[in-house]
Amino acid sequence: MKNISVFCGSSMGRRESYRVAAERLGRCVARHGDVIVYGGASVGLMRVLADAALAEGGRVIGFMPEAIDKFEVTYNDITELHIVGSMAERKQKMVEMSDSFIAMPGGMGTLDEFFEVAVLSQLRIIDKPVALYNIDGYYDKLLDFIDGAVDDGFIRSEHRGNIVVDDDPERLLMKLDAYKPVEVGKWVDHIKKETGK
Ligand code: AMP
Repeated sequence: MKNISVFCGSSMGRRESYRVAAERLGRCVARHGDVIVYGGASVGLMRVLADAALAEGGRVIGFMPEAIDKFEVTYNDITELHIVGSMAERKQKMVEMSDSFIAMPGGMGTLDEFFEVAVLSQLRIIDKPVALYNIDGYYDKLLDFIDGAVDDGFIRSEHRGNIVVDDDPERLLMKLDAYKPVEVGKWVDHIKKETGK
């Protein structure tokens, strides 16, 4: 049994495929006997994901910051709900208790969460895989940007390569299981060398 953090839109998005994908992922995680860890909201793709996992008999753990709880978008009917003091604390708690992370289509909140865990993983502060559930090519432009940053020497290709990408939930979970972190020493040496240190 693994805890899998899923970051996704508090909105539904404009394509039906996003809703279908959230439902497929929620059901798939539950069928594997794994637990969904998410932001604890009762709206958007977050709600669809949680409902799908619960409908399949799965467990869903939510972390909701007080500041958002006030907007009455908290999902009280999940397996475990934790109200936390801040957005930062929510991310920290989710990071601590999760074995892997999946970002599906979403907005600023989702991107913030994705980059937070991608950086922690890159620095080997956590050795846990990070994935993009790339529905209908939603993340293609972001991946193009990251590829450009690799070409421009700001992101290392091994870190780009370490981001798991798939549009199928079963394959995504398989790839997360097969994940091997990148060795840290080499690129730190390289960064020092290119700086002339
Ligand atoms: P966004 O992608 O901007 O819709 O934000 C969704 C992500 O940020 C989720 O994974 C949540 O953890 C967090 N978040 C942003 N807005 C909300 C909200 N109204 N309710 C709960 N969580 C939210």
